[in-house]
Amino acid sequence: MGVEYKDYYGILGVDRRADEREIKAAFRRLARRYHPDVNPGNPAAERRFKDVNEAYEVLGDAEKRRRYDMLGPANWARSVGGAANGKARSGQTTFDFFQSVFNAANARRARARQGRDLEQDITVTLEEAFGGSTRVFSIQGEEHCARCDGAGRAPTGRPCPACAGSGLVAYTRNIEVKLPAGVRDGSRIRIAHEGGAGVMGGPKGDLYFHVHVQPHPLFRRDEDNLLIDLDVPFTTLVLGGEVDVPTLGRPVRMKVPPTTANGCSFRLARLGMPHLSADGRGDLVVRVNTVLPRQMSDRERRLFEELRALASD
Ligand SMILES: [Zn+2]
Repeated sequence: MGVEYKDYYGILGVDRRADEREIKAAFRRLARRYHPDVNPGNPAAERRFKDVNEAYEVLGDAEKRRRYDMLGPANWARSVGGAANGKARSGQTTFDFFQSVFNAANARRARARQGRDLEQDITVTLEEAFGGSTRVFSIQGEEHCARCDGAGRAPTGRPCPACAGSGLVAYTRNIEVKLPAGVRDGSRIRIAHEGGAGVMGGPKGDLYFHVHVQPHPLFRRDEDNLLIDLDVPFTTLVLGGEVDVPTLGRPVRMKVPPTTANGCSFRLARLGMPHLSADGRGDLVVRVNTVLPRQMSDRERRLFEELRALASD
């Protein structure tokens, strides 16, 4: 088996020209991330943790680093034998340093919890609920400071300049909310991980939109059916005919049979609201209301009188 060698700069994710401070900062950040106490039962994290430890033992020591740079990774690995194969070789100094870092890190992670859920109202017209729509919201929130990984402290121990020590930074983000066709009053739409910032390294909460569908001047909604009251001239109800019916799409013409009673309902199939979780649509229920003439000419009056005479025969 050939000698396995490791690029310590790559492991720490730093440039070859990185100074001591940068190397130490990278080490602390990665060591915190891969520490076994934070990643129980995760062998990959454990391997990374050992690599990070090993890389820092060399790059964090000016004399060892100089030799490593001079020899190159392969020759370095040969020169130190099995040490570079990832076998435990923690120097006591480094180990103590770890412990102080991790005790603090663990104390924080132990109380990690998900951020709170946020709620926001969203009001839509019935037309928008019918056709579906997309809204863009500008939301403000707080998220983990990337610079200090939420710790609030710079590697020097001083408050992190990016978040002033709070571990959180404010952001404004536009998010698109898709309202599905058929959305109902009272529906909730969940946008995962756009809620409050996690506490002590926990995940972000969720954002919920509460949908309110505005009342419509013409249509009432009953589940996925739409109801409309339609005024129809009394002559049409008596003699039969056709009327225009508004819908949320294109208007349709509807046949009215002769001698239709006032208040009679007609069901127009599939002209209602789209079903939210299935194909198809509800119906449009049209209730007809007689419109009586407000004024009558002499001739109309005479004709009505004739009708009355006929009816009483
Ligand atoms: Zn910060």
